[in-house]
Amino acid sequence: MQILRTYVPDSFQNYNHLVYCEQQRTAAAVDPFDAEHLIQLARQQDLSINAIWITHEHGDHIRHVNELKAATGARVFAPAGCIGKVAADVWLEDNDRLRVGDQQALFWFTPGHTPAHGVFYVDQDEPALICGDTLFNAGVGNTRSGSTDVLYDSIERLRRDTAEHARIYPGHDYLPNNLAFALSIQPDLQPALKLKAEADTQTPDTRTVTTFEQELSFNLFLRLDDPELTRALADRDYPTDSALDRFRALRALRDQW
Ligand SMILES: [Zn+2]
Repeated sequence: MQILRTYVPDSFQNYNHLVYCEQQRTAAAVDPFDAEHLIQLARQQDLSINAIWITHEHGDHIRHVNELKAATGARVFAPAGCIGKVAADVWLEDNDRLRVGDQQALFWFTPGHTPAHGVFYVDQDEPALICGDTLFNAGVGNTRSGSTDVLYDSIERLRRDTAEHARIYPGHDYLPNNLAFALSIQPDLQPALKLKAEADTQTPDTRTVTTFEQELSFNLFLRLDDPELTRALADRDYPTDSALDRFRALRALRDQW
């Protein structure tokens, strides 16, 4: 399975993805913001879009579902919790398998950013996680329409089930901002400093595609057992007894930042 990431002009810093089978040249388009943009990309790459995969129900993730379906005839796959919020052909439950040509991916139910959110995990030779607004580079989704405690469980599940060499494809380009936040909490975190220097020379189109293993080195939400992080949170008067306490503290600090 191959993944094409594209930064969508005039969006809310959205990335869209085409997940495709090299042999059959068929593709699934994830969270279409701009149907025309995706159709052009598919044409350039000699791909035919025959599926649309939705991570969650927010407007910037389902904006052009109907337009893309009308133009391509693709079938729409969405989390079962999105019933009534988007027109889908197939409602997805945790661990459902999806096919793209000869290839397969898994749907994992990862609520928290919203109650219905899911991610797509390619568990083949080159694993990849297409994670919408659940996990970001150097951060996690906000919980304004969800629940921080529920998101904590989903992030822990991702940590358990994602291969360390899996590439990470979030729904937005928030890397520079999230790294700046991480460094505001832990100014000496070397992997964050190194990636920040890299990010400063990149555009959203050339942004580093990180692996889960790399995220473990600078994404504070995946580093809840780091004693230095605990100290930094305690210094700001947050409860730090449990990993969930520390996750809540980080989410609250990021919300205010
Ligand atoms: Zn969202």
